[in-house]
Amino acid sequence: MADAKQLTIIGGGLAGALLASLLAQRGWQVDVFEQRGDPRVEGYAGGRSINLALAERGLYALKQAGLDHRVLEQAVMMRGRFVHPLAGASQLQRYGRDDSEVIWSISRGELNITLLNAAERAGVRLHFNQPLKSVDFEARLATFETPDGENVVPFNALIGADGAGSTLRAQMHATLPFDERTEWLDHGYKELEIPPTASGDFRIEPNALHIWPRGHYMCIALPNDERTFTVTLFMPLKGVYPSFELITTPDAAQTLFETQFPDTLPLIPDLAEDFARNPVGKLATLYLDRWHLADKAVLIGDAAHAMVPFHGQGMNCAFEDCVSLANHLDRSPALSDAFQAFSEERMPNAAAIQQMALENYVEMRDKVDDAAFLLQRELELTLQARHPERFIPHYTMVTFMRIPYAVALARSDIQRDILVAATHGKQRLDELDMAQADAMVLAQLQPLSDLA
Ligand code: FAD
Repeated sequence: MADAKQLTIIGGGLAGALLASLLAQRGWQVDVFEQRGDPRVEGYAGGRSINLALAERGLYALKQAGLDHRVLEQAVMMRGRFVHPLAGASQLQRYGRDDSEVIWSISRGELNITLLNAAERAGVRLHFNQPLKSVDFEARLATFETPDGENVVPFNALIGADGAGSTLRAQMHATLPFDERTEWLDHGYKELEIPPTASGDFRIEPNALHIWPRGHYMCIALPNDERTFTVTLFMPLKGVYPSFELITTPDAAQTLFETQFPDTLPLIPDLAEDFARNPVGKLATLYLDRWHLADKAVLIGDAAHAMVPFHGQGMNCAFEDCVSLANHLDRSPALSDAFQAFSEERMPNAAAIQQMALENYVEMRDKVDDAAFLLQRELELTLQARHPERFIPHYTMVTFMRIPYAVALARSDIQRDILVAATHGKQRLDELDMAQADAMVLAQLQPLSDLA
């Protein structure tokens, strides 16, 4: 293909559609090939979670495309975790200091449609019902399956936004093998629904992400703008009770909810139907040693670095990829340089959030109602107030800031050690040696502005 300012994106999901807009706005001619039908015509086909948590990194990327306001109009604010222990009172644990530090629950389908509309308005050509089948990288020809046969399309370069099961990644691997590793989590998930009340209201506090932590398993619920909640039950696939291997029938699910999540039972009237109908989703982390193939192809989003969903950052990270790739394409006239620079910037950060996402599962299902954790959280906020430039809580760095994930991970490790050391054997904040905690902070954490 002669036109050097042309790019072909595989996948019109969240990352593909946003990247298409960003590139078209910067003067690229962009084609997007999507395996599914047009969700604006045929309805959204779903497949993964029904709703998602949008945080600062994703919001910033949407802002670059001029879409932040439009998306927030459809979102429900979540101030914190609403923790429902099996025994004892439920409580809201704020994520940040105030309502300037919140996350947003958005519908995947609505968001995808907003992004596709924006891409089309920016001049992107969208091709639906055309899954990528194979690629001849030498001849720069991509073959798509169409309802009538095959469509062979010349390309300048391909961008793989085709998700965790990426066909483009498989085609790149066939040409120049990756060191590719998929680590499956031994836990899966199933979605259920809390409908609105008879008068059309939310049944529980809407401005929160609800968690029912139960040790090795949990339920969470995120609000939807039509006043429902999507509940997700996460538990082991096999082995110990409860697991998806042992709970296979609606009756078994009913018993599990009666004994372990009794307060949710009146909220989920269609538990039996939801449980029988909805599939068990599997979760994995994907590791690659390289994301691009010369100047011919590059991977972004889940196609490059699928992760488990427990930090609510997969899409946010994919959106950060979009901004980064668009910036590198602006800066480097040669595609191979842009792809290389993009990979060098993003790979360590994707690896960091993949690790933090795995760690956060343990925190959500096992720690959020634990006294030691709550004391550490109290100290975290105190140290943040005393050293605002140095001690920034882990969740804040990941969720409300855009400092590189790798920096957030390194600082979180140091901070966790300080929190554990300072609270060891203590029950209350006023029992702590605050001077010693201050000294650890000053000795071990540089001010963030020094890193700029
Ligand atoms: P996808 O969204 O998977 O899009 C890929 C697109 O490519 C799809 O449209 C697909 O149809 C298309 N495609 C696939 N194969 C082909 C082909 N051969 N040819 C053409 N098109 C193709 N992230 C968050 O930030 N916050 C959350 O709260 C959150 N919650 C989650 C909860 C669950 C249960 C799960 C599973 C994930 C969650 N995530 C969350 C992660 C998030 O869903 C993903 O990181 C995000 O969808 C990645 O976007 P993507 O565009 O890279 O991939």
